[in-house]
Amino acid sequence: MTVADILDKITADKIISEQDIAKLLCCTDDDEQQLFSLANQTRQSNVGNEIHFRGLIEFANFCSNDCYYCGLRRSNKKITRYRMTDQEIIETGQLASRLGYRTLVLQSGEYPDYSAKELADLVYRLKTINDFAITLSIGQRSLTDYQLLLSAGADRILMRHETSDSALFTRLRPGTNLTARLSLLTQLRELGYQIGLGNMVGLPGQSLMSIVQDILLIQTMNADMAGIGPFLPHPQTPLAACNAGSYTLSLHELAIVRLLVPRIHLPATTALATICPDGQLAALNCGANVLMPNLTPHKYRKLYTIYPNKAGITEDPLDSHQRLLYLVGRANRTIASDRGDSLQNRR
Ligand code: SAM
Ligand code: SF4
Repeated sequence: MTVADILDKITADKIISEQDIAKLLCCTDDDEQQLFSLANQTRQSNVGNEIHFRGLIEFANFCSNDCYYCGLRRSNKKITRYRMTDQEIIETGQLASRLGYRTLVLQSGEYPDYSAKELADLVYRLKTINDFAITLSIGQRSLTDYQLLLSAGADRILMRHETSDSALFTRLRPGTNLTARLSLLTQLRELGYQIGLGNMVGLPGQSLMSIVQDILLIQTMNADMAGIGPFLPHPQTPLAACNAGSYTLSLHELAIVRLLVPRIHLPATTALATICPDGQLAALNCGANVLMPNLTPHKYRKLYTIYPNKAGITEDPLDSHQRLLYLVGRANRTIASDRGDSLQNRR
């Protein structure tokens, strides 16, 4: 089958074979343009022209995990650890409200020492500033913790599956396993959370067919959101000498996910902006409909280095906001004024 035949088949029934997905991942030239163009049309007709801004607050960089790919891993002794004060977090929420944000993403390392009660109090206080949707990106915690956070007003979980290859998952995330992460995500959805999955592209040891499985996993889990971006090597990790993931492959995965899960929310990730200056614009043109401006105060940003040279690292919150506002104009799109909740059909 040609790429054009595969794209016709996706448009008709949303089902294609693993081999066809692999072929789309590797397509080039005119075939690539057709893939991007169909993904862009699919985005337009299913989630519209609006871009949802989700304000990212990287509130702490302590982590008890030791993921091989991440600069926040507990074995990285060269990083200065921080936690924003409650007051700083609330002030960031107030700034977000003034700037018109309807979603806040609270992100940190996975660190059980922060009690669920402390986090729940923060969620509750942020919700009194504005009717924000609150996304938690804090890693795996007990269902009881997540139940408390839900009661305090949290709405969504962003917990990427990282890789669908379970052996690779455990190799790169010592002491953890994919089954537990996926099962937690399923339980969180049943509790009432909207859930975000996603993976890195180009992890050392990752095969093309495992990226095919990443795409199928996002589809079968009927994810509300998926964050997709290239792996970027961090110098203070065991993967320092590895190559970065492919920019092109990341865009292809994004476009294919848009075709297979038309109403999913897909961010143009910071990792794409880091690997290529116009990476987020390219993502917006091949399926993405979300941007996550970084609202973390300037003094903390360089300490939240999951990978080096992260786009926006020298900016303050207003700079980041303005830069992405400008990007929306360049993409000829508009900013959504609603919360941008899930558009997926629920059972
Ligand atoms: N600790 C939480 C967790 O792991 O789910 C949330 C914070 S973690 C820093 C957020 C995401 O950063 C991870 O899901 C991972 O995909 C991404 N990440 C970490 N190291 C990376 C790297 N070297 N290159 C690209 N993305 C990376
Ligand atoms: Fe910790 Fe998340 Fe980084 Fe893993 S990816 S080391 S859990 S912050």
